[in-house]
Amino acid sequence: MTQAAIEIDNLCKTYAGGKRALDGVSFEVPRGQIFGLLGPNGAGKSTLINILAGLVNKTEGRATIWGFDVDAHPRNAKASIGIVNQEITFDPFFTPRETLEIQAGLYGVPKAQRDPMALLRAVHLEDKADAYSRTLSGGMKRRLMVAKAMVHSPPIIILDEPTAGVDVELRQQLWAYVKSLNARGVTVVLTTHYLEEAEQLCDRIAIINHGKLIANKPTRELVGMAQEKVVEVTVDRDVAALPENVCFQKIELKAGRTLVITFRKDQANAGEVLGAVQSGGYGIVDVSTREADLEDVFLNLTRAVG
Ligand code: ADP
Ligand code: MG
Repeated sequence: MTQAAIEIDNLCKTYAGGKRALDGVSFEVPRGQIFGLLGPNGAGKSTLINILAGLVNKTEGRATIWGFDVDAHPRNAKASIGIVNQEITFDPFFTPRETLEIQAGLYGVPKAQRDPMALLRAVHLEDKADAYSRTLSGGMKRRLMVAKAMVHSPPIIILDEPTAGVDVELRQQLWAYVKSLNARGVTVVLTTHYLEEAEQLCDRIAIINHGKLIANKPTRELVGMAQEKVVEVTVDRDVAALPENVCFQKIELKAGRTLVITFRKDQANAGEVLGAVQSGGYGIVDVSTREADLEDVFLNLTRAVG
């Protein structure tokens, strides 16, 4: 039995018409983690997820879900994941309760083990249990899709851009639910454009761009990859001419007495930067620093490859 929740090896997809959406992607999703798959629009995220879901045929490569090869054991592989697609799909004539009952039937969940109301409660749709799905808002439909994906209690849930069209408050609720699933041992894979959320939620992040994997690291390490650091220094007199120093990557004047200095962490430290300011004849009144965040890393990586 393999240790990874999902293993992808040299996955390739060329669509009819010639578009190469995935070009030799390999990575593993460790069990028990919240794993973020990031990448700009058109990078190939949905293609990858739809291959795992059995909705898109891969051109080349292997994929294993919870130890089950998607080609050799498609039914076991499918039973091991719950997928929330990027597009909202639902039947407008069923109520949320019925939708979950039908889904449970499709997955062969025994009646005694079904608990649609508990799932609806978890996604805050309790009071909509008997409303027609077509009367639900976009955010509600998406939450219904999340509940639907969990009907057969899979060990893995995959959410493709789950927060698209979901307002801030409901997004928080959705993430709270995702976290509670993860706390109960469910491995979570999600794609998102919200880097800040990925940074807060994910244990590990993979980035794809133009169908190729360009990063796959624990979130903290990935954030640490950003080499630039910014220090804001307020000095004790008006700045007539900007101080110069080799360890400054960039220096700008913000207001009359505040200097914004960018330096590379691998070439200097904040102490040297401040020393350089002082040796320019300024006293230091105030200092603040900012670590590069995931957005910086993301931009650097996608710029470098794109
Ligand atoms: P993402 O989810 O990262 O935005 P997708 O996987 O949806 O990216 O798309 C990757 C690339 O494949 C894009 O260039 C897209 O236009 C193309 N693509 C997606 N689906 C199809 C399809 N059914 N037929 C042809 N090209 C497609
Ligand atoms: Mg997509």
